[in-house]
Amino acid sequence: IHAEPQGIEERDEQIDRAMRPKMLDEYTGQDDSRAQLKIFIQAAQNRDEALDHMLIYGPPGLGKTTLAMIVANEMGVNIKSTSGPVLEKAGDLAALLTNLEPGDVLFIDEIHRLSSVVEEILYPAMEDYQLDIMIGEGPAARSIKLDLPPFTLIGATTRAGALTSPLRARFGIPLRLEFYNVKDLSSIVTRSANVLELPIDEAGAIELARRSRGTPRIANRLLRRVRDFAEVKHDGEITKQVAELALDMLDIDSEGFDYMDRKLLLAIIDKFMGGPVGLDNLAAAIGEERETIEDVLEPFLIQQGFIQRTPRGRIATDRAYQHFDIIQPEK
Ligand code: ADP
Repeated sequence: IHAEPQGIEERDEQIDRAMRPKMLDEYTGQDDSRAQLKIFIQAAQNRDEALDHMLIYGPPGLGKTTLAMIVANEMGVNIKSTSGPVLEKAGDLAALLTNLEPGDVLFIDEIHRLSSVVEEILYPAMEDYQLDIMIGEGPAARSIKLDLPPFTLIGATTRAGALTSPLRARFGIPLRLEFYNVKDLSSIVTRSANVLELPIDEAGAIELARRSRGTPRIANRLLRRVRDFAEVKHDGEITKQVAELALDMLDIDSEGFDYMDRKLLLAIIDKFMGGPVGLDNLAAAIGEERETIEDVLEPFLIQQGFIQRTPRGRIATDRAYQHFDIIQPEK
């Protein structure tokens, strides 16, 4: 038993770890990616080889990191994790690569943010399991070559388009993750609730799933917040009614949109007369980074048909107007 009190973040992290699926069969949804992976893993195991390098892409919170960990578990190998911005120098990557054991997984999150010097080291490493690195400086500088064990690089990114094409070409297995449907999300919510030993009924799970922006990370986060609400205000069981009350209080609307989603949609409607509006103008109007709009906010709004991306900019659709009960101006 721990004596010191735990911070909320630390507690959340522990809960996250417990809820994260460990094997492919526990990973809900993403049927196409899962089916492909099953075959590739089986084939690599039969040949006793490292799995081919894999690029997983899709919006945040859809399960890219989780899938990388599952691959390592299924293959029975270690996983070393890092991220693009953390690997500043060639030596940072070299240190990781030379510590791998045969078959290991090297996971690089945000791989589109690798510096070009680090990326250059990665090419021969991926292609020939060769480390090709300069040591020393000036006249004494020389290049050394080292053999690396066969390994699997798993890269994750929210924007596959931002990868350089030579890097993209070196991944044998591209996997694109999609937003989850309500059925899959509600099984994830139910599974997480079981892990946390939380009573939840089917309608409660569906309500949470409906308002989670198609994203397991959000579903799990809302589950934890709704739990607090259910414990304090009700007898602990998460029913549809409890979920609705809690989500309303958290300012998550009937479509699962939060404050920022609504701010974005209303900016297009009110400040730009429904659009089209360019990304920079939109970013300035809501005080948000372009990247956040493109990677985090917009993908779900587009997928749900509230925003359309046209060559001249973003426009708010009929659905967006209906959602806010605003009459669309004649054009
Ligand atoms: P990403 O790396 O894409 O940002 P993560 O892999 O960190 O997303 O997933 C976010 C959270 O959602 C994890 O804590 C995990 O428990 C949960 N999760 C993601 N995908 C699934 C899934 N298919 N089934 C169950 N839980 C999932």
